[in-house]
Amino acid sequence: MTFHVIGAGVAGLAAALALADQGRPVVLHESTPQAGGRCRALPDGTDNGTHALLGTNTVALGFLKRIGAAEGWVEPEPAGLPVLDARDGRAFHVALSPFAWGNPALRPPGFSAGALMALARMALPGRDRAIGPAMAAHPAFLRGFVDPLVVAALNTPVVEASSRRLGAVLRRMGGRGACRLLVARDGLGPDLVAPALAALAAAGAEVRFGARLRRLVQQEGRVAALDFGEEAIRLGPEDRVLLATPPWESQRLLPHLPVPEGYAPIVNLHFARPGPGPVRFLGLLDALCQWVLVRPTGVSVTVSAGDEAARTDQDRLAPKAWAELRAAALAFCLPGDWPEAAPPCRVVKERRATPRHTPGPPPDPARLPLPNLALAGDWTDTVLPATIEAAIRSGQAAAQALVR
Ligand SMILES: Cc1cc2nc3c(=O)[nH]c(=O)nc-3n(C[C@H](O)[C@H](O)[C@H](O)COP(=O)(O)OP(=O)(O)OC[C@H]3O[C@@H](n4cnc5c(N)ncnc54)[C@H](O)[C@@H]3O)c2cc1C
Repeated sequence: MTFHVIGAGVAGLAAALALADQGRPVVLHESTPQAGGRCRALPDGTDNGTHALLGTNTVALGFLKRIGAAEGWVEPEPAGLPVLDARDGRAFHVALSPFAWGNPALRPPGFSAGALMALARMALPGRDRAIGPAMAAHPAFLRGFVDPLVVAALNTPVVEASSRRLGAVLRRMGGRGACRLLVARDGLGPDLVAPALAALAAAGAEVRFGARLRRLVQQEGRVAALDFGEEAIRLGPEDRVLLATPPWESQRLLPHLPVPEGYAPIVNLHFARPGPGPVRFLGLLDALCQWVLVRPTGVSVTVSAGDEAARTDQDRLAPKAWAELRAAALAFCLPGDWPEAAPPCRVVKERRATPRHTPGPPPDPARLPLPNLALAGDWTDTVLPATIEAAIRSGQAAAQALVR
């Protein structure tokens, strides 16, 4: 009996490890030369994009612990997120947890009892609607807190983002330590992908790179063979398949599968600016840059739900982003040089970073569309937005469904 896992993104890595940990024979097939998928290191070691976790992402943190990588994820701003408002130049700190807002120095702009109640209402089950219009009575709070939170968590502009998906996030932000924001200290390669591959090797799983599944050959309602082009693998009666590919690829392989209709891009700019000091994480309001990650090796900027940024030339994006992040770095007295001229910059545009999370029921494919095939991937979680947490949950759930 062999378990064939297709796709070595986070969902596939988690699924393969869950199976290998149960002593099952596992082969993980990945089409590209490297693992990580939408959460990967580029060949020069740069992350494709900044990835943050919250303390509430307990499944993801459990996975990091299992692969021995938990200590690589650090909390850069334990005293509250430093934020620069580009509209008026105000620099302040914000706590992500509403429970910390008893301290006026950590309250977001526009905070009021009414705004807090309106946000709390989103956490309750109710009609799914667009968040922007639902929070319109609290414009300063919408701009200063809800909009950045929604764009970061749902990668969808606030005018069209689903209140139900945000509610699922808000309900998980209540526990102790749930709002701790964590980032990979050295990068997604050393702090996630390499340890996951090492854990898989140690558990006896085989990983095949450059293995693109062309076709699922079906017979009598089951997967009978895996067609990899030059090679086809015939499945025995006990063999199983776990498909952990992105939605568009899963639909190509299984044409009747319901998948999300729209996707949103994330643009990252990586500046070659080595500098002293610990890892830092800054926010900006009313700016192209939403989040700035400062590591000793360089500075990275995230533009989520960045439809316009995805259409704009690198030559126009880089100077604007550098001027904004430099202002933030100077406002919070970050150490080292912050010259006026932008350092060399690499722009990474992930055009289908995640589905757009709009109101209405999301596609809800069966976990086992065929008796010997299970589905995984961030998009198959109908509660959480498409994130690392959703991907790992889905991988572990699919592995469980296959062995049952
Ligand atoms: C720039 C960016 C920033 C993000 N920031 C965050 C963040 O801060 N926090 C967070 O939690 N999430 C974030 N996300 C979302 C997170 O990266 C995804 O939710 C997660 O990585 C999805 O994992 P997955 O395994 O479901 O899919 P994928 O990562 O898409 O993995 C699918 C894998 O299948 C492979 N594959 C495809 N077709 C085939 C085939 N035919 N045969 C074999 N292999 C195939 C692909 O190459 C890929 O490796 C971000 C995403 C991006 C792009």
